[in-house]
Amino acid sequence: MSNSSFPSARDPADPFFLATLHSDSDVGRIDPAHVEVRRSVLEVRRTVSNRVFFQCKYCAHLHEFERAEMSIVDLASVDRIYRDVVWFVMYHVKFCKYIPSYIKEMNADAPWLAADIGAYWAESAMEIGLRDDEERRCVVVDPSVDDTTSTESAEPSFLP
Ligand SMILES: [Zn+2]
Repeated sequence: MSNSSFPSARDPADPFFLATLHSDSDVGRIDPAHVEVRRSVLEVRRTVSNRVFFQCKYCAHLHEFERAEMSIVDLASVDRIYRDVVWFVMYHVKFCKYIPSYIKEMNADAPWLAADIGAYWAESAMEIGLRDDEERRCVVVDPSVDDTTSTESAEPSFLP
């Protein structure tokens, strides 16, 4: 799910791509702690080979050896995004000293861990153009909605 060698020198991060999972429809649908994680902690990024990953915004400026573990979430499939982010919250958010304490103090409550929550996370990821790459067992940005390859802009691609 995550390791310190991804993105790699061979497949580095694409500096021109930045998106977010957050949307206004999150509020009331998912746990308030996760709304905040989507809104202000997780950056949706990708490598130059179009392999999508999430990164903690608060420690992204540090060398990987200076970050708490799991600062990067290496995604295997859209359906697993929710589970992967739950792990990210458990193993990174609590330990990253750059994340503001008001976020760390928000804990996801058990009632929100309902079966359809994972489906909501998958659907909202599909809405911003994320797709499974079954061959490489990773998540990619759908080339048909990808408008970043021909632009010089470093602006977020899928923000409203
Ligand atoms: Zn962090």
